[in-house]
Amino acid sequence: MFISELFQQKKVVSFEIFPPKLTSSIEVIYDTIDALAPLRPDFISVTYGAGGSTSKTTAEIASIVENKYNINSLAHLTCITSSKEQIEGTLTQLADSNVSNILALRGDIPKGSEETGRVRDFQYASDLVAYIQNKHSFCLGGACYPEGHPECPDKDQDIENLRRKVDAGVGFLVTQLFYDNDAFFRFQEKVAKLNINVPILAGIMPITNRVQIERILALSNARMPQKLIKILDKFEHNMEALKDAGIAYATKQIVELLANDIDGVHIYTMNKPQIAKDLVRNLDSLFYAVNSQETRKVGNLD
Ligand code: FAD
Repeated sequence: MFISELFQQKKVVSFEIFPPKLTSSIEVIYDTIDALAPLRPDFISVTYGAGGSTSKTTAEIASIVENKYNINSLAHLTCITSSKEQIEGTLTQLADSNVSNILALRGDIPKGSEETGRVRDFQYASDLVAYIQNKHSFCLGGACYPEGHPECPDKDQDIENLRRKVDAGVGFLVTQLFYDNDAFFRFQEKVAKLNINVPILAGIMPITNRVQIERILALSNARMPQKLIKILDKFEHNMEALKDAGIAYATKQIVELLANDIDGVHIYTMNKPQIAKDLVRNLDSLFYAVNSQETRKVGNLD
């Protein structure tokens, strides 16, 4: 099923997983999906290791999600280090595996000596989107950045660039992780002003480890609010307490987002199914409530 169609029916809840390291067998991903599947996500997305490493297994895992678990899958695909021929190869593999949804990304520009790995067939994600739209019939998603993409000094320009990507054929957006809901709400307003009308999934990553999250935030523009810094300062040396606090913070974030009628949430699981389980347990009745309101709305229209 096309993911863009899901938004017409309900608030969407999705999970992100990543392929196992090359030194591990692909089989280990079954344990992760086995644990996530009973939570009945609307889709599971599979990241793409730009520059090789795990990129080949992305299509394989997306196919497993789609065909063995009967869950919609979203295969991430980056283009900055790929030629048109390589992209065509992956598109064929995905189409042959019945995977119909792609998160079309540029990928990070390789640095230093890796710069030689850069191929210039596609400069921006919008080029990849336009290319796939012209030749294929996938449903395409795109990335967006409530606090701005780190390379773009002007946030308004970044949203103008986002509009080009949507105009090229993106049917829905998934945000970079954020911890400040107000930043997301401000972003939503700006996006609406530019008539970008596709659904936006809010990317939420519960914090379970300070070092890990600081490394991730250093690469993105996402800001850590003072109240979250206090939580980290207090609990960082007690893993269990930090995990509980991280889940509680993410739960609060999602409650506020759902109360403000957003299109859905995308949970960065970091291949730790317990994170998704804890969140769904906390929020199950809310997801049910917002979706039964959707159903009632449709009923009322009838
Ligand atoms: P673009 O949309 O191309 O934007 C990149 C930059 O170029 C922005 O600063 C934008 O403002 C600017 N820009 C865009 N168009 C133009 C234009 N026409 N003229 C001038 N400037 C322009 N990376 C991976 O390697 N693998 C993954 O699986 C992966 N998954 C991700 C999932 C999500 C939800 C998100 C938010 C990011 C993900 N990333 C992933 C990271 C992503 O690849 C990087 O953030 C990358 O730097 C930008 O990718 P993009 O698709 O957003 O690029």
